[in-house]
Amino acid sequence: MHYHAGIDYFTPLAGAEKTMRCKACQEEMDVQRDVLRTKGKFGSDLPKEFQRREDIFTCSHAGADWHVQITVLLREIDHTASQKLTSLLEAEIVEICRTRHVTKELSAWLI
Ligand SMILES: [Zn+2]
Repeated sequence: MHYHAGIDYFTPLAGAEKTMRCKACQEEMDVQRDVLRTKGKFGSDLPKEFQRREDIFTCSHAGADWHVQITVLLREIDHTASQKLTSLLEAEIVEICRTRHVTKELSAWLI
């Protein structure tokens, strides 16, 4: 499964968050509690003093084509300076979320 950190994947410190909602579809996320992180960002072993216990929140819809499209649209909102484009993109996200269908087939490079 390919998750998008900050959208459908979060790893707060263990116990910090009771529940979390997915930033793509707004649904309550699944959680795996109190997981000891021993690896760094690039898979290297972390020294003991940097290891920590965290809760891993994931969205059960991650990977669905409509959900992936929303994550790409959210990224576009982050990258545009235009309020008008932001409004258009947000309206499309609401539509995709409601219908759970893509509004456009995505090229592989976008994902
Ligand atoms: Zn979601």
